[in-house]
Amino acid sequence: MTIDHDVLVLGAGLAGMRAALEAAREGADVAIVTKVHPIRSHSSAAQGGINAALGEGDSWESHAFDTIKGSDYLADQDAVEVMCREAPADIVEFEHMGVIFYRNEDGKLGTRAFGGASQARTYFVGDITGQALLVTLYDQILKAGVKVYEEWFATTLYVENGACRGLVALEMITGELHLVRAKAVIDAAGGLGRVFEPSTNALICTGDGYALAYRAGAPLMDMEMVQYHPTTLAGSGFLMSEAARGEGAYLLNSEGERFMKRYAPNKMELAARDVCSRSEVTEIAEGRGIDGNVLLDCRHLGADVILKKLPQIHEMALDYVGLDMIKDPIPVRPGMHYQMGGVKTDATGATRLQGLYAAGEVACVSVHGGNRLGANSLLDTIVFGRRSGKASAAYVKGVAGSRGGENVLHAEQARMQELLARPYTGETHARLRLELATMMDKHCGVYRNEAGLTEALKRLSGLKARYEKIAVGDKSRIFNQALTFALEVGFMLDCADAIVRSALERKESRGAQSRTDYPERNDAEWLKHILITYRTGKEPELSYAPVTITQWKPEARSY
Ligand SMILES: Cc1cc2nc3c(=O)[nH]c(=O)nc-3n(C[C@H](O)[C@H](O)[C@H](O)COP(=O)(O)OP(=O)(O)OC[C@H]3O[C@@H](n4cnc5c(N)ncnc54)[C@H](O)[C@@H]3O)c2cc1C
Repeated sequence: MTIDHDVLVLGAGLAGMRAALEAAREGADVAIVTKVHPIRSHSSAAQGGINAALGEGDSWESHAFDTIKGSDYLADQDAVEVMCREAPADIVEFEHMGVIFYRNEDGKLGTRAFGGASQARTYFVGDITGQALLVTLYDQILKAGVKVYEEWFATTLYVENGACRGLVALEMITGELHLVRAKAVIDAAGGLGRVFEPSTNALICTGDGYALAYRAGAPLMDMEMVQYHPTTLAGSGFLMSEAARGEGAYLLNSEGERFMKRYAPNKMELAARDVCSRSEVTEIAEGRGIDGNVLLDCRHLGADVILKKLPQIHEMALDYVGLDMIKDPIPVRPGMHYQMGGVKTDATGATRLQGLYAAGEVACVSVHGGNRLGANSLLDTIVFGRRSGKASAAYVKGVAGSRGGENVLHAEQARMQELLARPYTGETHARLRLELATMMDKHCGVYRNEAGLTEALKRLSGLKARYEKIAVGDKSRIFNQALTFALEVGFMLDCADAIVRSALERKESRGAQSRTDYPERNDAEWLKHILITYRTGKEPELSYAPVTITQWKPEARSY
């Protein structure tokens, strides 16, 4: 089947739905393609909240400075300014759409403190903020008449004469491939957390949107900047929200010491995430961990605060490690959480591939630089989702619809048939995926060095060769997850390759990139972005882009 729309959004998380809503408001015919039902997108897992300088005594400049300092001065300051200036109006709009944000005793919107922020400016709904925003947005897109192709899995973008004109997607319930043409495509396909293990991300966060855009010719930027969250639950890697520390929880080592006093004496547990993760890894390496973990202690917050403000993580700790946060500290360790880098865009969401926009975690505007502050990602999805929706709707007014693309559809049909027809060789997507993700954690995690990264590149080339031979066990057409999982591993390998090459290239330590062989930040040589561009049949090309500095000159970063 071939379908035509004006604006096609890939992904129905917060960025995708916000983009779709805005494009529809601007009069475009809009559709969304999503591999899961919209409200199962990973945005629904966001717990802690969303930042905005909305309160008395706060200012967008203060929010911008915290964000830039948090980024270790790698964020583009013009983009950060846009995000922080526009944040308050976006929060108010969501409140008007029906999100029931927490209100304080005076009946006003209340905030909680978050890491790296000089003011408490995180707005929240208990510890289910993402879900509250997502369901509200879903109502809105249904009302606006946006067409949703749910459980449709995008396999490739369709590029014609140097412009993105749609995509090919697998309708999972029938196994049929379709060509969905559009005058503009917005890539809002979310993060790549599962390229690492452990990860806080949902199993669906496999970096499809990075790989699809990259293969189509759009460069990726800042890919070495991978955020490890300091408090993921031992065993499962589930996120224990920063909201816990925002409410006052402590981090303890095996000696019962609040060790952050030695690493970030002013901000303690509320230092930025890269700082806390490194401190934990150091404590564990120096023998002050407990079975590879440290402890998150909420006992002094009392049952009332825990049950009212942190109910979800209280329940998770009970269910998954059998501990009651009211009475027991819980074991946590750093786990992969967020990708700061992504498809390079400007502040309207435009990528360097004509007709392709990107927004949300998959995009790199760049507002997070070397390290994202907690609660700035939901904000990024909303501000730049809206902006890409608006810009794409304006762009399509001057563009005629494509009449072609059947060749791309046929090529994808042949590719799927070949994959399904391959004989079983013993190589499975599941084994490759686990090997890839544990290898990435080992060699490209919180601490990195030349030897480990070179080993990672070597291992990746072996994994890629094995990937070419994997067989899909299930040969049927209907809801063939063995097939989609296999395709996901292909996307993950491309993402991993871009991350490792960029991490090898950056010979300094900045934000989440901690090189033990280059322990210092080096502004003279490395105050610049690394871009990576895909080249068919050749090694990818690395290039640089300057960091935009407006009013905040780089300084030493301490908390
Ligand atoms: C556990 C957890 C807690 C978090 N808490 C917070 C928080 O409190 N505050 C904060 O600011 N940030 C938080 N974050 C980060 C934030 O939630 C995410 O960065 C953000 O929600 C990403 O939104 P998105 O719209 O870009 O992508 P997602 O919500 O991940 O949506 C991606 C969409 O793309 C679709 N898709 C992907 N691949 C394909 C394909 N091949 N074909 C079709 N569709 C596809 C999916 O179906 C999905 O609809 C948290 C993240 C996690 C994992």
